[in-house]
Amino acid sequence: MTGASRGIGRAIAEQFGRDGHRVVLLSRTASSLESVRDAITEAGGGAEVRVCDVGDGEALAGVIEEVASTLGRLDILVNNAGITRDGLIMRMSDEDFDDVIRVNLRSAFVACRAAARPMMRGKYGRIVNIGSVTGVVGNSGQANYAAAKAGLTGLTKTLAKELGSKGVTANVIAPGFIETDMTDALPQSMKDEAVKSLPARRMGRPEEIAAAASFLASEGAAYVTGQVLVVDGGLTC
Ligand code: NAP
Repeated sequence: MTGASRGIGRAIAEQFGRDGHRVVLLSRTASSLESVRDAITEAGGGAEVRVCDVGDGEALAGVIEEVASTLGRLDILVNNAGITRDGLIMRMSDEDFDDVIRVNLRSAFVACRAAARPMMRGKYGRIVNIGSVTGVVGNSGQANYAAAKAGLTGLTKTLAKELGSKGVTANVIAPGFIETDMTDALPQSMKDEAVKSLPARRMGRPEEIAAAASFLASEGAAYVTGQVLVVDGGLTC
């Protein structure tokens, strides 16, 4: 799973460890990944680390192929790595648009393409792509991020159609406001204002996204595919 070093990715990795999966942790930061690996193994699970910048498609595909061949199978892929480069459209640079598309969307395409072969061979697979409510309803200042996250939905629905007959499902989780480093960067006043209008009256926790991922990655979710599971405390209801 990508973006496993902190935040939502770390919570999903730890949940998968508890679920009994052998978890392969990807991000750019070896030391953080090692601490997630240690937490998983201390809790009785199995995990290993691969350092990889998902913006480098060739490297990412190489890691996925290596993992599938080393472990002999690949059952689950979670594309969670993500960045923001916010700005109103009039001021958004080509570079900020391209960076967000490369890390948030192109990486998922590359990883899904690399994972499809071993999953189809094993006649089993669970692909979980981490989108955002921003990809569902848009957000001022996030044209790049909204385009990437909405793109993930199109990618995922297409994968569901192409791979469904091979026992492979593909779904999106669209989180709302979740407490992580990504939202720590936002002004407190903005977060307070957003929370006031939420039915849940609070931000979400990474573990609440991990619970949804755990379900979609389970054998029991075999008949759920091509869906966007919104986990947002009622933000979009
Ligand atoms: P975060 O705390 O900022 O963590 C981002 C993760 O992505 C880190 O593990 C980071 O690892 C990894 N990453 C970033 N760029 C990477 C790259 N080029 N190559 C490899 N790994 C990279 O963010 P988060 O809030 O947990 O977000 C996780 C996902 O949920 C993202 O896709 C985000 O868009 C989505 N999401 C978050 C929220 C929210 O409210 N937090 C809401 C909706 C959707 P390294 O820095 O170690 O590489």
